[in-house]
Amino acid sequence: MTTDASDPIPPHKTFDTILVLDFGSQYSHLITRRLRELNVYSEMLPCTQKIADLGWTPKGVILSGGPYSVYWDDAPHVDPAVFELNVPILGICYGLQEIAWTFDNKNVLAGEKREYGHAYLKVERHGDGETGGHVDRLFADWEDNTEVWMSHGDKLGHLPTDFITVATTSNAPFAGIAHTSKKYYGIQFHPEVTHTPKGKVLLKNFAVDICEAQTNWTMSKFVDQEIERIRKLVGPKGQVIGAVSGGVDSTVAAKLMKEAIGDRFHAVLVDNGVLRLNEAKTVKETLTAGLGINLTVIDASERFLSRLAGVKDDPEKKRKIIGNTFIEIFQEEAKKIAAAAQQSSNAGEIEWLLQGTLYPDVIESISFKGPSATIKTHHNVGGLPKDMNLKLIEPLRELFKDEVRELGMNLGIPEDLVWRHPFPGPGIAIRILGEVTPEQVRIAREADHIFIEEIKAAGLYRNISQAFAALLPVKAVGVMGDKRVHDQVIALRAVETTDFMTADWYPFDGAFLKKVSRRIVNEVNGVCRVVYDITSKPPGTIEME
Ligand code: GLN
Repeated sequence: MTTDASDPIPPHKTFDTILVLDFGSQYSHLITRRLRELNVYSEMLPCTQKIADLGWTPKGVILSGGPYSVYWDDAPHVDPAVFELNVPILGICYGLQEIAWTFDNKNVLAGEKREYGHAYLKVERHGDGETGGHVDRLFADWEDNTEVWMSHGDKLGHLPTDFITVATTSNAPFAGIAHTSKKYYGIQFHPEVTHTPKGKVLLKNFAVDICEAQTNWTMSKFVDQEIERIRKLVGPKGQVIGAVSGGVDSTVAAKLMKEAIGDRFHAVLVDNGVLRLNEAKTVKETLTAGLGINLTVIDASERFLSRLAGVKDDPEKKRKIIGNTFIEIFQEEAKKIAAAAQQSSNAGEIEWLLQGTLYPDVIESISFKGPSATIKTHHNVGGLPKDMNLKLIEPLRELFKDEVRELGMNLGIPEDLVWRHPFPGPGIAIRILGEVTPEQVRIAREADHIFIEEIKAAGLYRNISQAFAALLPVKAVGVMGDKRVHDQVIALRAVETTDFMTADWYPFDGAFLKKVSRRIVNEVNGVCRVVYDITSKPPGTIEME
């Protein structure tokens, strides 16, 4: 993991940053998202963060919501030093209660009525008067009776000392409060969710107007800074190796490395024999001819397929075989590349491993899970062995997925690739139910290709989050050319989702499905039926195995 010590210029040192302290609300990360959408850089840390250990000064702090009650014995509390930073602070829900708790001698109690859902907010303006007007600034540009979204059971007993009310709802007399002399604010509702339509205005008022954070967080600026950062980190001779898959994250990370250190970045694509139709070839073309990345493609199809032979009803076993074989091959290749790189010119050793870790992975690993839960340390999804002795370089670790896409566009990566659906590491091996044989791979690949081709032709690719064809290893009877056939079944799966945690099947129209079905049965030898999977997640998963 890259740390501040080895990291010369982390974004919070170059961009004005709003720090979100997370009390464990399921929406905390959305606060960070919304701020970045406003081009204000924001980072999230657990509420237990010691301010003295921070090493940088935020332009403002937001205390998030959380599932606890501040009056519980083991409730999490913010480091009081946050109030000595001398920067504006906004408490949201639990955060508001935390401010009241800190400032007014434990003044929070359980409400008689839980409030969950919409409420209508009335803004109370105070004019310049004795407070100088800062109290009105949080709700600037808000009209009365604007919809807000509530999710709480606790409430303030009374207004904390030195605070005044700046907004109310029929059930919440302290829906918005502000300190009369300091720039401390609290709101009972959630501005970060889309159910609060004007929430973004409020966050902008706080971040841009009250905290005076610059709105310079743009991907073009990030590219320049990140390239500088990588160069400093790796040094003038440093070499980096990384696996690419043809997916958006690894391609964007690879292109960024290429821009920063040229051919001292070595990309490796392992063809495991279960990639999509023509995938290895297409990825090679795009990455080398198109993007100029120094890429080695290793065709290891046979090694993978021979190890998969005979594995019939244990999907986990398939995943393990593919994962372990991948690591084995990657290590072998890394040694070869390292030896070759050292021979040529006066290049240094390969010391670094590139990983396409994204901010949600980082958030997941540091997010505050409650008073009793320990905070997980970050471990990487790629699972490459420690004994490779490589330091990790993770240029996307501050970015959300849509920022990675924007960055990809900025780096000139073709739009097609930038908007690619996710593809699992074990590839179509887990879309072939039952044994994976070269013949089954052929069938699944061809069917998948037709399905995706038709989705693209119908202009639906971007409306769908993930789509593929799976091969069901059962036989059904059909009649083709007046002849009775006994062939396998293809199941089509297409889902819509925003976070991949829950998903629903895509409602294609009948004519579309008819066309895809006709093409698959006609063009793919070995298939005589096509079905459409109408299972949502949960209870289904997106992939079949
Ligand atoms: N647990 C607190 C309450 O019920 C805070 C809830 C929240 O932050 N959404 O009021």
